[in-house]
Amino acid sequence: MAGTLTFSPDDRFHAFLTTCRKTEYGDGPLCGIPVAVKDNISTKGIETTCASKILKGYIPPYDAHVVQLVRGAGAAVVGKTNMDEFGMGTTTENSAFGPTLNPWDDGRVPGGSSGGSAAAVASGMVPMALGTDTGGSIRCPAAFCGIVGLKPTYGRVSRYGLIAYANSLEQIGPMADSVANVSKLFSVIAGHDPRDSTSCARPYAHEPSADIQGLKIGIPNEYFGTGVDPSVADVVRKAIRRLEELGATTVPCSIPSMEYALAAYYVTCTSEASSNLARFDGIRYGPAADSKKAWHEAYREVRKAGFGPEVRRRILLGTFALSSGYYGKYYAKAQVARANVRADFLRILESVDVIVGPTMPTIAFRLAEKSDPLSMYLSDILTVPANLAGIPAISVPCGKSDGMPVGLQIMGRHFEDERVIDVAYAYEQAVSA
Ligand code: GLN
Repeated sequence: MAGTLTFSPDDRFHAFLTTCRKTEYGDGPLCGIPVAVKDNISTKGIETTCASKILKGYIPPYDAHVVQLVRGAGAAVVGKTNMDEFGMGTTTENSAFGPTLNPWDDGRVPGGSSGGSAAAVASGMVPMALGTDTGGSIRCPAAFCGIVGLKPTYGRVSRYGLIAYANSLEQIGPMADSVANVSKLFSVIAGHDPRDSTSCARPYAHEPSADIQGLKIGIPNEYFGTGVDPSVADVVRKAIRRLEELGATTVPCSIPSMEYALAAYYVTCTSEASSNLARFDGIRYGPAADSKKAWHEAYREVRKAGFGPEVRRRILLGTFALSSGYYGKYYAKAQVARANVRADFLRILESVDVIVGPTMPTIAFRLAEKSDPLSMYLSDILTVPANLAGIPAISVPCGKSDGMPVGLQIMGRHFEDERVIDVAYAYEQAVSA
């Protein structure tokens, strides 16, 4: 039955940038369910800022493909969630409109960049939300906030209407309070869309199954190596033993290219970002440039005032990596490293069904704890490989360390999102029984 939903939550954690007080909903599998949408996904008639000053006041004239689908399935789109500006960050502290707080401990970050979506789910304001994941932005906040988040296989969900950060890496995906709800939202958003040239005709119609008897799991030693907090590693090892009790077998493996994954990721994403963000010039988007000024001065002023420090840093890095004389040294090399990461993962996935490890090397950081960009980038080490390889990866809560949630990450073969969902479901059902 169609109707109107009233939504006026007490948003103590600053999960939302915009809320819609009254929203129409329709019939369908998501009938009347409040769904939150990350603010880099276009929503017709609802301000969409990417948490950037440069898009303040921008109201898209159309819905992203996923938003059309979610609305078409009867859901109520109740608001736009906070994020790191343009998706660049791991904590949601890079929002131009102030950070989101972690519902488990408001002195800590919710993770990022989809931190608002994760906090909205974790605090019970919505059961499901859309996030985006370029290098971990769905899985990291899911892990830090104790919810479930899936980065789908590249191409399985249309990116039409997603304001691009790094096209070759990113996917829109479901975040929810349970694996069943992740699966439900995924079944609505997956499938072909001719408006995204990378979109594949691979719809998802699957009921999660908890039967993992005979499943073969690869455990890469790199996912338990230096930089991974020993107490996080212990929680995850315990979860893996639980999967063994459910009938899975584990084999150790190694990903030699892992040491280049982070460098490959940061050269690739900054290069793509420098090109994608060139459109924000104060003419087509952004606060109007002063028309009496020379174009390059007007352009500089608008971009300097509109972009935050992390976005400026990445545009500079990416422009440098792509510039003539350096292209071969950086961008081209990064693509070779990326191909090696992909090849390593695919090779391992020939002999095992899934690869399992921690989602993040630590629990959620304290607010302002990470001040230098490099140490922040290092915390993405366990999530970026799935984006470089284009494979599906899910994070499911698997216990606590120091009172904070820890995420178990399950990665699978291309287009085997069903399988990673099943493994997460089996684990979730076993621990909630
Ligand atoms: N933390 C990573 C970055 O800053 C990933 C971000 C994302 O997935 N959007 O690029």
